[in-house]
Amino acid sequence: KKYVYFFGGSKAEGDATMKSLLGGKGANLAEMVKLGFPVPPGFTISTEVCKYYYDHGRKYPDDLKDQVVKAVEELEEVTGKKFGSPENPLLVSVRSGAAVSMPGMMDTILNLGLNNETVQGMINATGNPRFCYDAYRRFMQMFGDVVLGIEHSYFEEQLNAVKSKRGVKLDTDLTADDLKEVVQRYMDVYKNAGQEFPQDPWDQLWKAIDAVFGSWMNERAIKYRELNGIKEGELLGTAVNVVTMVFGNMGDDSGTGVAFTRDPNTGEKQFYGEYLPNAQGEDVVAGIRTPYPLTKLEEIMPDVYKQLLDIFVKLENHYRDMQDIEFTIEKGKLYLLQTRTGKRTPFAAVKIAVDLAEEGLISKEEAIMRVSPEHIETLLHPYFLPETKQNAKLLAKGIAASPGAASGVIIFDPSEAERLVKESSKDVILVRPETSPEDIAGMAAANGILTSTGGKTSHAAVVARGMGKACIVGCEAIEVEEEAELIRVNGREFAKGSWISIDGTTGEVFEGKLDSVKPQGLEGPLAKLLDWADEVKKLGVRTNADTPRDATVAREFGAQGIGLCRTEHMFFDEERIPAVRQMIVAKTLEQRQAALDKLLPMQKEDFKGLFKAMEGYPVTIRLLDPPLHEFLPKEEEDIKSLAEEMNISYDELKSTVEELHEFNPMMGHRGCRLAITYPEIAVMQTKAIIGAAIELLKEEGQTVIPEIMIPLVGHINELKYLKKIIVDTADAMIKEAGVELNYKVGTMIEIPRAALTADEIAKEAEFFSFGTNDLTQMTFGFSRDDYGKFVGDYVEKGILEVDPFQKLDRIGVGQLVKMGTERGRSTRPDLKVGICGEHGGEPSSVEFCHLVGLDYVSCSPYRVPVARLAAAQAFL
Ligand code: ADP
Ligand code: MG
Ligand code: MG
Repeated sequence: KKYVYFFGGSKAEGDATMKSLLGGKGANLAEMVKLGFPVPPGFTISTEVCKYYYDHGRKYPDDLKDQVVKAVEELEEVTGKKFGSPENPLLVSVRSGAAVSMPGMMDTILNLGLNNETVQGMINATGNPRFCYDAYRRFMQMFGDVVLGIEHSYFEEQLNAVKSKRGVKLDTDLTADDLKEVVQRYMDVYKNAGQEFPQDPWDQLWKAIDAVFGSWMNERAIKYRELNGIKEGELLGTAVNVVTMVFGNMGDDSGTGVAFTRDPNTGEKQFYGEYLPNAQGEDVVAGIRTPYPLTKLEEIMPDVYKQLLDIFVKLENHYRDMQDIEFTIEKGKLYLLQTRTGKRTPFAAVKIAVDLAEEGLISKEEAIMRVSPEHIETLLHPYFLPETKQNAKLLAKGIAASPGAASGVIIFDPSEAERLVKESSKDVILVRPETSPEDIAGMAAANGILTSTGGKTSHAAVVARGMGKACIVGCEAIEVEEEAELIRVNGREFAKGSWISIDGTTGEVFEGKLDSVKPQGLEGPLAKLLDWADEVKKLGVRTNADTPRDATVAREFGAQGIGLCRTEHMFFDEERIPAVRQMIVAKTLEQRQAALDKLLPMQKEDFKGLFKAMEGYPVTIRLLDPPLHEFLPKEEEDIKSLAEEMNISYDELKSTVEELHEFNPMMGHRGCRLAITYPEIAVMQTKAIIGAAIELLKEEGQTVIPEIMIPLVGHINELKYLKKIIVDTADAMIKEAGVELNYKVGTMIEIPRAALTADEIAKEAEFFSFGTNDLTQMTFGFSRDDYGKFVGDYVEKGILEVDPFQKLDRIGVGQLVKMGTERGRSTRPDLKVGICGEHGGEPSSVEFCHLVGLDYVSCSPYRVPVARLAAAQAFL
């Protein structure tokens, strides 16, 4: 069986398609040789050998030795040098390289093949003893460190000793004799470590190969695969590349560099890179000397520079993507040592994809596939640069609930936050154990929100995401002492007014004030890419919006309708909440009606605003849904003032509030159950919706098709009962107004029973919308407000792969979605079906919605662009 693949001269046995067998490095080196680029000859030992090695107790296949010997002979032939010969010795580098680039693996060994004899041969051949001893000592150090595990610092000590003895600072100031002494001292370092430096080049080579294969299972590499979600068995292992050495350290007409064919930060179409004269590969990375910008090469060696630029263009055209290239110049001759698709910032990813498509190098569809939807989200929010974070003090990590970067002083009381921002435009981070609907104004005023409890769909998370505000929830490491107005973290205390910074994209909390970078918004290349996505996608993208402001933002981001308006969110401002509370605690129909009469005109205006902002696109409005406890007055003061307003005694109201207490409010008196007990609530909301639509039609001639949505239905009769009330109210109004107005009545599917009986429910419902937050809660039986405490353990112990509130559980919850859709359409073939849970903006969940044939997804405004791209990718 073939294990070794040669490249060099003008032929190569591998090519770029063979990444899984040859690793990325090996496959691309072979490809470049095929393309006729100057690559030092070499060979790749395949990843299959790595697999064999581990399957057979760290033994190699029998015929590997012969194949390696043959490959070395071939190298000797092509280069005219001889491995281990004192005449004109062949030196090689030994490099690891898996199918995906993996920083955790073995460091490269350069100059292998040097020993006391061959170094002499090198001196004879080059006439440059300084260079030869320099190469020798580098090799001894790398080999000792990487292969034999001798502490790096032992070598450094000896090098420094010689430097101070000679009174010089830089390595480059050492003479040939100095370096020769360094080599001698290194021999002792080996001895003192109980090792012997192998003089036999073949011994060196096999030990280095062992070390590369061994590094596949070292801790760093295993950790790296784990962190990057690379599963065991997904890759065969690493390949080993043995490459003829070329020397960038042979004088000022030599050097080494790295380059990107486009700017990896901005995506700008210009070369970008660094060049270090008279140096070997590792020097650039190690940061020992400061490299020049690549353009400096134009001054030093204009011809080589031109040749390099020419190669950049060719490589980019060939790979059809931005390349990250390593090169070395030996005495004015250019060699390429590596090329790969370059890593880039999200910003650059979008720009490069769009530019490449417009340059005709890739298709629009490919451009769409090249950008990750998650990256788009980060472009719409402020962010911290990696450098900024590196220099900051990390305090804790919580659940990343809403992306973006924010700094501010810690404030615990939402109304205080609101006041501080209003009066003195302070930067505030609202810190709370959890948030509740009353905190909305404070949340809106703050730069960011941090809570110590809760999960991805907790109140704080959902609201912050809607506002496009940085938010971290479930940060258990932080103890919030509301009374004392301080937080405790790792034994330290931070009082109210201390600066902190939060990264809602990663969940990190930092001490102090960090500078953030402003987002660039939806314009330029990103707007173009999303337009292309719209041309391709089949799935509609709507938004969850409760205010005209949210709706307008979402329209700008490309939403085509509102998939969920949570009417209760309209009730939380200071002016309205008393009326809402009054409605809830009312003992008599009259009391309730009085409260509803106050709310009706406000609601109508809200809906008019929403309808206007959506410019004729459909608007789905959900009737009042939340558990009542969310509205109840809790503080004595609030109860007092409400009692006054309602003209009842404090005690009476207090006992009513106590009566309304529920043990499990999420499964309590909420959703359609509220309107079934109090139909007048549904009547008021219907009047507000239909009234707004009629007025808009009469005043501005704008047509809207309101979609009235009933939450938390589990039984067809619930829907039947409420639908009749809604239809009676609406039809009477339309008739009286003498207008033509279409509207729909549909339901949320968020209780498993509704999904199971979807065929029945569809007889009444004119549309479905899967509320996957509640559906996940009820299917798993995980409380949305409490699961944050244990979901981490579930993921860590591998019981769940991911948080199911974040990524739709296709097998369980998804099955209900699929079945509900199918059953619904079996009775009503034209049934419109959407999803409005937080999953609507999560790429993998969007893909699932596409696969099961939903009509649209609905998500918070800032995730609309994410969903548009994800929907297009799902189709492609
Ligand atoms: P990494 O995967 O960490 O980039 P590489 O195997 O690419 O490791 O090598 C590390 C450094 O050594 C790079 O700068 C590379 O250009 C240089 N290098 C590797 N092989 C050779 C060689 N045969 N001749 C000269 N320089 C080399
Ligand atoms: Mg490299
Ligand atoms: Mg719900």
